[in-house]
This record gives sequence, C-alpha cells and structure tokens, in this order.
Amino acid sequence: NLSDRLERSFKILKGQGTITEINVAETLKEIRKALIEADVNYKVAKTFTDDVKKKALGQNVLTSLQPGQLMVKIVHDELAQLMGGSSVDINLKGSPAVILMSGLQGSGKTTFSGKLANLLKSKRGKNPLLVACDIYRPAAIEQLKVIGGQINVPVYAEEGNMNAVQIAQHAVKFAKQNNHDLVIIDTAGRLAIDEQMMNEIANIKAAIQPQEILFVVDSMTGQDAVNTAKEFNERLNFDGVILTKLDGDTRGGAALSIRSVVTKPIKFVGTGEKMDALDTFYPERMADRILGMGDIVSFVERAQEMYDEEESRRLSKKLAKNQFDFNDFLSQLQQIKKMGNLKDIASMIPGVGKALKDVELDDNVFKSTESIIYSMTPYERERPDSLNGSRRQRIARGSGTSIQEVNRLLKQFDDMRKMMKMVSQNKMPGRKK
Ligand code: GDP
Ligand code: MG
Repeated sequence: NLSDRLERSFKILKGQGTITEINVAETLKEIRKALIEADVNYKVAKTFTDDVKKKALGQNVLTSLQPGQLMVKIVHDELAQLMGGSSVDINLKGSPAVILMSGLQGSGKTTFSGKLANLLKSKRGKNPLLVACDIYRPAAIEQLKVIGGQINVPVYAEEGNMNAVQIAQHAVKFAKQNNHDLVIIDTAGRLAIDEQMMNEIANIKAAIQPQEILFVVDSMTGQDAVNTAKEFNERLNFDGVILTKLDGDTRGGAALSIRSVVTKPIKFVGTGEKMDALDTFYPERMADRILGMGDIVSFVERAQEMYDEEESRRLSKKLAKNQFDFNDFLSQLQQIKKMGNLKDIASMIPGVGKALKDVELDDNVFKSTESIIYSMTPYERERPDSLNGSRRQRIARGSGTSIQEVNRLLKQFDDMRKMMKMVSQNKMPGRKK
C-alpha cells in the first residue's frame, strides 16, 4: 500500500547527512507514484515532484531520521500550498447574494445547494431561497423541494416554464420582495459537457450576475474532473470549486489536479448524503489525505522517539560509568537543536527566562562549540582528559576559534560532566532521594 511504500523510501533517506540528488530520487519516485494513485493528473504530479526536489536538494540534515522528516514536511507543505494554502470563504456580499451552481449531472449540485443553504442559515443567520432551474428532468424540482423541506428553506419553482434564465430572474425578484438575503440557484447538468447546457448557464450568469459561481465536481471522477473543470472555467470563469463524495475511498487527488489546472480555490467538500455532511476545505488536511501522510508522520515520530530513547539509555549508562565524552556532548547538542529555538527552551527553566531577556541567544551559539569538537581527533573526543596545552592550541587553530574559547568549552564540559554525574547518582543538591 501507499504509505508502506513511502515509509520504505523514507528509510532509504535515513542516516544521510544531506538531501542529495541520489538519496532523494527514490523518494520522489514513490511520491509521484503515490500522487498518481491518488488520481492526481500525471503532469501535475511531475511538476510537483520537480518543485519538491528543488526545495529539498542540499538541505542540511542533522540526525538519523531528519532527511525523511524533512521530506515529509517539504512534500506536505508544498501540497498544501499548491491547493491554496488556506481556506477561502464564500462571497456573501450583495442583497441578495446570489450563488449559482454549475457542474455535470450527478456531481451533487442539488444536494450541495441544500447543504449550503442549511449551513448559511444555521451558522450565519441567513434567510436563503433555493431556486429550481433544473427544468428538464421531471423529478429534479421535486428533489429540491424534498431537500428544502428537510432543512426548512423555501424553494422557488415555476412548474411548466421551460426558460431557466427567466426563472432565475423571477426568483431574484421574488427574493428581494420577500426579504431573502441569499439566493441559491440549482441548475441542470448533462452527463457530458454539451453546448446547450453551457449556453444556458452562461445566459443565467449574464442575466443575474451572481456573486459567486460554484463548480461542483464528484471527487471520484478522478482524471476526468480536470477536463470538466477546465471547460466550465473557460466558459463561466467560476469563483470556486466544491468537491463532493469525499466520504468514499477516494484520496482526493482531483483536488490537487483541479486546483493546479484552473487555479480557483476549493471552498467546500461534501462528505455524505445528509444535509450536514459539509466541511470547509482545508488544504493541510487534504494534503494529509492525498499522501496518506498521517501514517507517515506518526511513523517518523515513532522512529524518532525510539531513537531518542535508545540514545538517552546509552547516555545514562555512560554517565553512570563516568564515560561521558565529546561524542556524547555533540549528540546532546544535536538533540537540543532538534527541539527548536534555544532561547525558548532555556526560558522555560525557572529564573532563566528573565536573565535571558536581553541576551542574544540563537542556534549560532552552537556553531563554535560544534566546530571545536569537530576539530578534535576521535581519540581526543573519547578521552577529554587527554587535551593538554598543545592539543588545545591545535584545536583552536583548526576550528578557527581561540585558545580561550577552547578552554572555556573544556571548563563547561567538565562542569557539565560533574553535574550529570550527580544527577545520575541522585546527588543533586537539595534533591530528595
Ligand atoms: P446533481 O445531479 O448534480 O444535482 O447531483 P445530486 O445532488 O442529485 O447528487 C447525485 C447523487 O450523489 C445523489 O444520490 C446524492 O445523494 C449523492 N451525493 C451528493 N453529494 C454527496 C456526498 O458528498 N457524498 C455522498 N456519499 N453522496 C453524495
Ligand atoms: Mg440536480
């Protein structure tokens, strides 16, 4: 399955120092496959992975799991970005505000019309009017009336009138006269795009100039959704997309494809047949869904925890034997860096926060410390006591620091070692046994 495959490819990245062309190729291939499996259009998937690659290459990675984490983050953020970054609200200006539905037959226009009326009535205090402009199927008007009855919203219909443009115009007039501040117009759709349908809805648009034209699309139609969206957009220049039937198995790749082909925001997603099965569209959540990211993220976290646990077990053993050396020190530093902003962490220690207020303290503090340790030989790192005067001199030169800085670090290290020993033997001053 999809997330297994990604897990495997992220494992390849494990333990690499930087993200490079070679170690990222496999991961990107898997991501591309995953996207295509999730119904993302091939071209979109290709462009997407190329972008991710550009962002990922050369990024530095500190510890064993970081390349995978970093990739997850880059992929996730990029997906969310491509789908619009943040959610976009519906335009309700105008008195009344008029919303026109478009889309193929069976996409969910009538159902969504009801859901939207219901939502805006209950959450935003609107007084909506539903309008039946699907005049070709005898059952269509009845269907909207049933829905209107369920949510207690009146339905405007003209039985026998075969002019949809006229009905829409009359409905807006009726709404003005009856204090409806919101008009939702349900229209007819065909099984495939045809001229007559396109003309009709374009004529409705011209006649009533709605605040918002929404394109409703069945998320299960996958690749086809892209072409349909493109044609409707060329003809209507719609304002937003509604993705329906997301309650099924579909991964929602259509969202990504449509968004990148028509660059119009997705505003809502339908998640069931009931009137309350409607959600605001959140790009981040959709990114999770498309990649099956939840699994990967928790996998990475799990592995991360395991690594930390092992590491701290190893360290406490060494501490107990007083074998804590510069390699351990380095590893500690990297753990701290991973935790985030140093100043934030330090300020959590009681009494330290105030003292730090005006102090410049960022991750650069680590830089000279790290370069001093990197300038030590493996022998020296394991035996801190071996660092005599001439060794210190050499290390200072090698790391581009001064002998004073090296001495200061050695002193700090020594203090730290003493303190850690006390902690590990439970001899902290003032600490109860
Ligand atoms: P229209 O032809 O575009 O007006 O589509 P309808 O609103 O009549 O919906 C077609 C079918 O899809 C109906 O059986 C709806 O109940 C169903 N449907 C609509 N939206 C959703 C949804 O979000 N989830 C599910 N599972 N079914 C939906
Ligand atoms: Mg309908």
